[in-house]
Amino acid sequence: MCEKIMKSYLRHYNRTQYPPIFFNPFPMIQPTLLLKDPTETLTCVPGPNDLIGRLRGVSVAVQGAHLLDVAPYPVLAERYDLSQTPILDVRGKVLAPGFVDSHTHVVFGGSRVQEYAAKMTRTPAEVRALGIPTGITASMSMTRAATEDELVASAAARLHRMLRAGTTTVESKSGYGLSLEHELKMLRVNQRLVVAHDSAPLPSLISTFLGAHAFPPEKSHATYVDEIIHEMLPAVKAEKLADFCDVYIDDGYFTLPQTRRVLETARALGFKLKIHADQYGALGGAELAAELGVISADHLNYTTPETMHKLAAAGVVGVLMPLIDFAVQHPHPFDARAMFAAGMTLALATDICPGGWTESMQLVMQFACRQHRFSPEEALYAATVGGARALALPDRGALAPGLRADIQIWDVSTFEDVIYRLGANVVEAVFVGGKQVFKVNR
Ligand code: ZN
Repeated sequence: MCEKIMKSYLRHYNRTQYPPIFFNPFPMIQPTLLLKDPTETLTCVPGPNDLIGRLRGVSVAVQGAHLLDVAPYPVLAERYDLSQTPILDVRGKVLAPGFVDSHTHVVFGGSRVQEYAAKMTRTPAEVRALGIPTGITASMSMTRAATEDELVASAAARLHRMLRAGTTTVESKSGYGLSLEHELKMLRVNQRLVVAHDSAPLPSLISTFLGAHAFPPEKSHATYVDEIIHEMLPAVKAEKLADFCDVYIDDGYFTLPQTRRVLETARALGFKLKIHADQYGALGGAELAAELGVISADHLNYTTPETMHKLAAAGVVGVLMPLIDFAVQHPHPFDARAMFAAGMTLALATDICPGGWTESMQLVMQFACRQHRFSPEEALYAATVGGARALALPDRGALAPGLRADIQIWDVSTFEDVIYRLGANVVEAVFVGGKQVFKVNR
């Protein structure tokens, strides 16, 4: 292309076409990676009538751990020195931001496969009558019995499979220890998985303290709440083991006054807040979430439209998990359309846990669309930008200059294939912080 045509071409794109417009003051900058000519790039930077910033005819330049630019290849070749840049030809593929899975219980001991299988044909009471340990208490026993090394190994294996399914950031909760010793053990596992991420291919990990997940059988409820307030939260803070504090408010779990006490104490100590709210009953959890302005309120099966408006006004992200509703055959599935109508920002998450073992955000998107009336675009946005908002991480979830280069490549020709091919893993390669951490062997 002659210089004159190139200049007018650049003017044209700079003026009108490809958000975000990027003025490069360092023309000799050398990108460390260039993903050239994908069929589609889903930036998740919304444009007019386009929630997911779906671009054709662009390439993506990466500089170190961050995304440098999104523009047509001739434009990038003009703006940067590509002579030393590794160029990956991704023709026929789709590029998307890595998924941000903002609600998981990925660290746990043992498995509840016996319980899950028995429940296919039996009631919960019949399963218990068979002598099969069930629920959070069963996982507590197995998690307490596991060593820190065993928990690191089993969680790392799950996290690695999540990475291969396109997830580049995972939130991980404690909550199966339910004592000072074992809650700290779970959070140290999180900490080791954060560190491991620098040397082994794992997603980035965000740690959440969920001591208030259930009551341990050996203590009174009041004693345990006091232990959370006076011993666990200060210890977690002192060791810097978690960014978030979360509480499970529900029938048989934490009451509204107990939840308020734990969250207000955590906030005073500097934790960011989350809440498991309205999953099996409306105990005021979602209203408390709006009042306290927590970062996210999760589940929301019984939340009323009035409260959804309060959550939207308070900027609380709603985290929805279609596959846990499926796994437990929830009698009252959440109403995503009502939440969208109320103006809420929504995130999708796996909620991987011993009661609902799901590692794939693609499957989550498929169920969100077919079962809960998300559009494919809304599902992708909730699985990326929504997840990042639910974790208060403005540096990821979209493909835009300056954000982390957390990118996945899908071996499909059009975006909608990801919600169409039920149960498939369409991911061909994954980059975390600009480094390729997974490539499928064909
Ligand atoms: Zn949960």
